Amino acid sequence: MSPTFAHPNASYDAHMPAIDEPAATERNAPALAKLAQSRCPVCGEGLGTALLEARDLMWSVPGRFSVARCEGCELGVTLPLVDDAQLGSFYPAAYGAHSPQLTGALALVSKGMQRALAWQALHSVPLSHLAAIGPGRLLDVGCGNGELGAWLVRRGWTVVGVEPSADACAVARERGLEAREGILADVELEPSAYDAVVFRHSLEHVTDPVADLRRVRDALHGDGVAILSLPHFDCWQREKFGECWFNLEVPRHRFHFNAASLRSTLAAAGFTRTVTHTSTSAIALPASIQYALTGRFLLGSGLKLRIAIAACDLAAPLSWLVNRLAGSGDLLHAVAYK
Ligand SMILES: [Zn+2]
Repeated sequence: MSPTFAHPNASYDAHMPAIDEPAATERNAPALAKLAQSRCPVCGEGLGTALLEARDLMWSVPGRFSVARCEGCELGVTLPLVDDAQLGSFYPAAYGAHSPQLTGALALVSKGMQRALAWQALHSVPLSHLAAIGPGRLLDVGCGNGELGAWLVRRGWTVVGVEPSADACAVARERGLEAREGILADVELEPSAYDAVVFRHSLEHVTDPVADLRRVRDALHGDGVAILSLPHFDCWQREKFGECWFNLEVPRHRFHFNAASLRSTLAAAGFTRTVTHTSTSAIALPASIQYALTGRFLLGSGLKLRIAIAACDLAAPLSWLVNRLAGSGDLLHAVAYK
């Protein structure tokens, strides 16, 4: 996870009941059936033996999880397999919702940090690509509380967000987004109506990435693009830190991509051309070291997290240098053309 605009707070109860979504398992049945046969939901090849085993170091969901890799397209898959209803129990109640309200000087500091992070994101690849094609109509998949979308609305974009959290949708609407509550498989999308679709740290969470990408491809007009950012599973940090790699985030990250598997997934969904690259997040290296030292997440949420991110930014040149020397950043990005 890069320095995101929204972040879950620390009020997670590991024993909260699962979200009851009876239609979800049926909806994703084809992908789940392939996974149940230890076959890749993207290319159908077999899943190899587990590459690593890991615990949930961020929210302490009980249990151990493993990541197996497809022997065809190299997609990583989190095991054991769970359906959508079970997956709901892996998320804290406030995941993606807004941060606590701050007042006075703290509010000013927090707002300034939010602005700096937004400016940084919009002027870095891949979101900087939007400047060449907009303003227009944009679909933000997993829009959270709409912080990214709000900045694009101010720049003249019409932003439709898809977000399962009702609380986060309410905040996003206050910020000018047309937020549609639900997951991509459930919400209505107008065909050939969007100039761009953004998956910002959301594709790795879904049950059937090919099906979701097909839906957004249908929603793009002929010149539209999909812009994706997610963790880069083949980075040196994952190889070095293993289960302590900050961006691993099992079990919520159901799939783990490298450039080859991301290109295969987009091609399976019908995208004709994909350009990928990697970058360095400020937070992953310091947070991975912190996981390795303490075995749990200590950077907090809300303002505390933003201060931690600012501190990580000070160490960003070191992370960037090490990533350059090691040859791979911890984040993977793609711009895909319909
Ligand atoms: Zn595969």
